[in-house]
Amino acid sequence: MDFAISPKMTELLARLREFLEREIMPLEKTVAEHGFRASQPQLKALRAKAREHGFWLPQIGREHGGLGLSLMEHGMVSEVLGRSPLGHYTCNCQAPDAGNMEILIQFGTDEQKQKFLAPLLRGEIRSCFSMTEPERPGSNPTWLDTQAVRDGDHYVINGHKWFTSSADGAAFAIVMAVTNPDAPPHQRASQIMVPLDTPGFRFVRNIEIMGHAGDDYDSHAEVRYENCRVPVSNLLGGEGAGFLIAQERLGPGRIHHCMRWIGICERSFDLMCQRAATREIAPGKPLGTKEIVQAWIAESRAEINAARLAVLHAAWKIDNEGLYQSRSEVSCIKFFVADVLLKVIDRAIQVHGALGVTSDTPLAAFLRNERGARIYDGADEVHKVVVARQALKNYGLKLK
Ligand SMILES: Cc1cc2nc3c(=O)[nH]c(=O)nc-3n(C[C@H](O)[C@H](O)[C@H](O)COP(=O)(O)OP(=O)(O)OC[C@H]3O[C@@H](n4cnc5c(N)ncnc54)[C@H](O)[C@@H]3O)c2cc1C
Repeated sequence: MDFAISPKMTELLARLREFLEREIMPLEKTVAEHGFRASQPQLKALRAKAREHGFWLPQIGREHGGLGLSLMEHGMVSEVLGRSPLGHYTCNCQAPDAGNMEILIQFGTDEQKQKFLAPLLRGEIRSCFSMTEPERPGSNPTWLDTQAVRDGDHYVINGHKWFTSSADGAAFAIVMAVTNPDAPPHQRASQIMVPLDTPGFRFVRNIEIMGHAGDDYDSHAEVRYENCRVPVSNLLGGEGAGFLIAQERLGPGRIHHCMRWIGICERSFDLMCQRAATREIAPGKPLGTKEIVQAWIAESRAEINAARLAVLHAAWKIDNEGLYQSRSEVSCIKFFVADVLLKVIDRAIQVHGALGVTSDTPLAAFLRNERGARIYDGADEVHKVVVARQALKNYGLKLK
């Protein structure tokens, strides 16, 4: 394992960090107060600057106009960008578009690439990924009610989805729907592109997350597909390949999320230390003189350092040995880093006292937006089962 950062990456990370502090962070308050849609003129200008500075599409290969970074290198970029809620969006490497770009590159036909991928890469449109259903457990993606029934050259899609993140204002959804109900469970569903202006697509609402519905990119929608008719040429991969494609999408996606979370940890840590150093609880006695606050700072430092190394190791393993060989490492970081993230944000809030739960710092929004970290892309418990199953197999115990 070589975690040495190349001169090229050192230079890129330093420039990116400077860009984040100078250009991206000053816009955070405006977007938080007025929402994503109303802030589009400023966000578009910001994205144009990111492009000019060579920060566009860090996760995508050079042949598609990206920076061509390895997963480990992109992990480091993701940490820097994660310090701001606007970081990934500014560089067009935000979820769920990043994952959708990756699967379109890997599985899309030339026609699909031209129609769906090219405008995504250019940042002209956004997309969403529509798998989870309110009536079925998202933790068991082989059990879906949404059906896509073949009718001549079309699929007719009917289903109810929620937590279709960023559907508000997106141009198309990649919908997971059952096309082969009689096939084995992992081969029943397919992924199909549905332009959101297709008749029968119904946007129901942006779901409130802890009291905040958000808008535009910053939202999670409930949607319905009611006799939504799309051409068969919108099928991604093959019929029944939906589950396999979803797995391909989630592995690297978890590295991106985990490194983004480490960026949030570092920002929260900075805020915690700044407050501890300056807030006096008695004349001449800053909070940081209290041992319990020192312990929170030390524990946070150790946990963030450990989390970063674990994520870089998982990324390195995927880069060198492939996704399948790295399943246990990826599952370990998914629940471990989510736990570190929530602990660090919570300690930073505690050090800020009442200020910590206001919108005057980004901490409250971090907590609201990131509580889902322990749920999405596989709940903690599901990942723990994966890790334990693999470990116990080595001791002769096979779990189903
Ligand atoms: C912020 C956020 C964004 C999201 N974005 C998207 C998106 O863009 N597209 C999309 O399709 N979905 C999205 N999701 C949905 C997400 O993928 C699901 O919430 C997740 O898969 C869990 O499914 P569920 O909510 O139905 O919970 P359930 O499957 O009902 O599980 C509930 C709880 O049961 C426990 N549990 C489940 N299975 C097991 C098990 N095998 N062993 C032990 N315990 C278990 C876990 O504690 C879990 O939290 C998003 C969710 C959130 C919170």
